[in-house]
Amino acid sequence: MDCIFCKITSGQIPTNFVAVSEHAVAFNDISPRQPLHVLVVPKKHFTDVSELTKAAPEILADLMALAVQVAGDKSEGSFRLSFNTGEKAGQSVFHAHAHVTSVEPR
Ligand code: AMP
Ligand code: ZN
Repeated sequence: MDCIFCKITSGQIPTNFVAVSEHAVAFNDISPRQPLHVLVVPKKHFTDVSELTKAAPEILADLMALAVQVAGDKSEGSFRLSFNTGEKAGQSVFHAHAHVTSVEPR
């Protein structure tokens, strides 16, 4: 399977991780749309957050904890946490991921 985020999480594409947990990694979005724009991505492949939630709630909980940790470390406390799900909602990479964005990075 040709999945860019699988290549990043597996280390095939060298990437500077902002933070890592048991089941997820966090790295800066290549094309940031806010002053802080970090992606939080499960190490294992799931198509989107719906599939992730149904198949592996413990991985979702771990990913959410990492996202909140990154938001706490990298923003002044105001942030957005979002999952685009489906092409018409703007999903362009079909490996589940959370966007952590903030207009007020720390
Ligand atoms: P989405 O549109 O919700 O699927 O989000 C995919 C995000 O991945 C976009 O914000 C892209 O800018 C970002 N992205 C795509 N390729 C890379 C990459 N190689 N490294 C970091 N971010 C990427
Ligand atoms: Zn993948």
